Amino acid sequence: MSNKPANNIQDLQYFGEFGGVNPSISDSATYTFLHAKTMLDTFEGHAEGCYLYSRHTSPSNLYLSEALAAMEFTETANVAASGMGAITSVFMQVCGAEDHIVSSRTIYGGSYAFLKNFAPKFNITASFVDITSLKAVEDAITPKTKMIYCEAISNPLLEIANIAELSKIAKKHNVLLVVDNTFSPLLISPQKLGADITIHSLTKFINGTNDTVGGVVCGTQEFIDSLRNVNDGAAMLLGPVMDSLRAASILKNLRTLHIRMKKHSENALYLAENFEDDGLKVVYPGLKSHSDHQLFKAMYNQEYGFGGILTIDVGTLEKANELMELMQNENLGYLAVSLGFYKTLFSAPGTSTSSEIPEEEQAEMGLSDGIIRFSIGLDNDIERTYRAMRKCMKQVGVL
Ligand SMILES: *Cc1c(COP(=O)(O)O)cnc(C)c1O
Repeated sequence: MSNKPANNIQDLQYFGEFGGVNPSISDSATYTFLHAKTMLDTFEGHAEGCYLYSRHTSPSNLYLSEALAAMEFTETANVAASGMGAITSVFMQVCGAEDHIVSSRTIYGGSYAFLKNFAPKFNITASFVDITSLKAVEDAITPKTKMIYCEAISNPLLEIANIAELSKIAKKHNVLLVVDNTFSPLLISPQKLGADITIHSLTKFINGTNDTVGGVVCGTQEFIDSLRNVNDGAAMLLGPVMDSLRAASILKNLRTLHIRMKKHSENALYLAENFEDDGLKVVYPGLKSHSDHQLFKAMYNQEYGFGGILTIDVGTLEKANELMELMQNENLGYLAVSLGFYKTLFSAPGTSTSSEIPEEEQAEMGLSDGIIRFSIGLDNDIERTYRAMRKCMKQVGVL
């Protein structure tokens, strides 16, 4: 295995069933056995290379899983029908009644809502902490804690988790460090920095075409086997399984991820620097003004830059909405949630992807309602885009 994540994807070699350069798509829900004994062995997880039933796994899902494991430097991986399918399976696999999770307070709204509102039904509780305060993280750990959960780059405040230091705390207290790396595929390799489990929503940068949702859990063979166990595996029993056709299409998009990430980062850095020079309040890990700029530089795989996500704060929700509507009218992107598309996407997180977080808590964590989150697209002429966006900002009076 190479030390570089994109090399590991490039180096995968496929000879399809009929010699195709892409693996054949497995179009079956169930699989035959020539011998009854092999079926029993497969059920018990002892029959290497045999398939049983596609909720367990399928050849197409395994191809995609292995490619993502290669990218994340883990032993193996398991794809899921959505990012939330991957995240909730991990929570439910690791935790039982009375167990506890220490979670970053700035996480994806769905992950937050699950921990805050759904997990308590199973008597699983979470403490939400400022992930940039290592002391706050360690202080929140109790004898019942099973996991520290965070995002490498947080949504939507773009705080950076110090994965290496969090890993030391996790090891000291014998808990798992689980990192959602959705905002930073290829940029950050959580496993190399000491994470135990790396999760992605494939819906975003990795697939990159906004035509499907998907997720993945990357980890040890032992953990992934436990997730898929027919008797007590969360992925097997909750059933958030990806369809084979989708797995095949995501695998094809994964192959261009390195080129796309470089362009997203190049464009985002250009806009962040120029908007900041214009006097806007910009948050982007690539700016020297970002509080964790140095930390990010100590962690990242440099060639991919600082990522495609930036935020600006235009003061009020009214201004944010006015600007977003105008930019959409000017064809500078879409007023839409999600990220990683070829066109720029923008949304106001307080009223969209983080609306699950109560207003007082939003204020406490610094999530002002004038924040616009941009997922910068693959624009070939970013100077032209900058000039057109600047014109919109002048027109609505935020510049
Ligand atoms: C979108 C997203 C998720 C959820 O993924 P889905 O594919 O929509 O289920 C989880 N974490 C982060 C950081 C996300 O951006």
